[in-house]
Amino acid sequence: MKAALFRGTGQLEIAEVPDPRPGPGQALVRVAACGICGTDRHIFHGEFQTHPPVIIGHEYAGVITEIGPEVAGLRPGDRVAIDPNMPCGQCAPCRRGQVHMCEHLTALGVDIDGGFAEYSVAPITQCFPLPENLSLVEGAMAEPVACCIHGMDLAGVRSGDTVAIIGGGAIGQIMAQLARLQGAGRVIVSDLSAARREMALELGADAVIDPIAQDPLSAGQLLEGGANVVIEAVGSAATDAQAIAWAGRGGTVLWFGVTPPDQTVTVSPNLVFEKELTLRGARINPFTHGRALALLGSGRLEVGPLITRRANIEELPGLLAAGPGDDIKTVIVP
Ligand SMILES: [Zn+2]
Ligand SMILES: [Zn+2]
Repeated sequence: MKAALFRGTGQLEIAEVPDPRPGPGQALVRVAACGICGTDRHIFHGEFQTHPPVIIGHEYAGVITEIGPEVAGLRPGDRVAIDPNMPCGQCAPCRRGQVHMCEHLTALGVDIDGGFAEYSVAPITQCFPLPENLSLVEGAMAEPVACCIHGMDLAGVRSGDTVAIIGGGAIGQIMAQLARLQGAGRVIVSDLSAARREMALELGADAVIDPIAQDPLSAGQLLEGGANVVIEAVGSAATDAQAIAWAGRGGTVLWFGVTPPDQTVTVSPNLVFEKELTLRGARINPFTHGRALALLGSGRLEVGPLITRRANIEELPGLLAAGPGDDIKTVIVP
């Protein structure tokens, strides 16, 4: 089969590799779509630890074509979305129930072969049936939605809150919709790209900010008094600092975007005291994959419009090297 084999920094080879076979407790999945994530770009640029050679791609859905021994509950023909994150179950955080903090976490498409390929073998525990009304391409969005749901749980949006979201990529667009579903009174999305701002408005944001042209705290008073919840969905120190500045009294700041490890933010402890701010992070998708699929199946969360580009696997190395541009979510359709 054809697969995107990561061999080391900047080296992604579209190679012919042997078809994988499912072992005990595993399913063979014919991949229908696999989304490109910021993490894939970090991997490509050597900014994220992996174990090459490995087939990358961790946001994927497909159809089971074969099951290994000792598999119950799913069978060939079933459409599934993959939860790529596999905790060890044995370390101290796992045994406290914090599986996403696992000290030995392995992930399909990061540590072991994943979804930028025609076929992928996944443990049956990682295969979640797709709701009937959800397309396979939309099913590839289950992983980012699951991560956003975990973040939204921690952000603690309450009815009537003003929620500001920095970044109108796929994560920001999903977060904006989740904030509305949580009952936010006002949802504001900030992004440099006019196309992304337009998309946010189409999907229900109340206002958008061009952060270069407009200071939301002064001009236009978009955020009078600051937001109750600010979600950073970019992954840079500059926007992490901006998130603190945009939070109002008693506000919560969720740093969701993955910032390069060498970047730091200067925080005024006095400001945290004065405003009684909560600063928090959110990591991956503990027990939220099923919830993501339930929400997607309900039709209340729209991910179809976020898939702005479909590409074939040969285009993947160029797409990873180039960055997302105005595209919101690109999926590879093998
Ligand atoms: Zn991802
Ligand atoms: Zn563990």
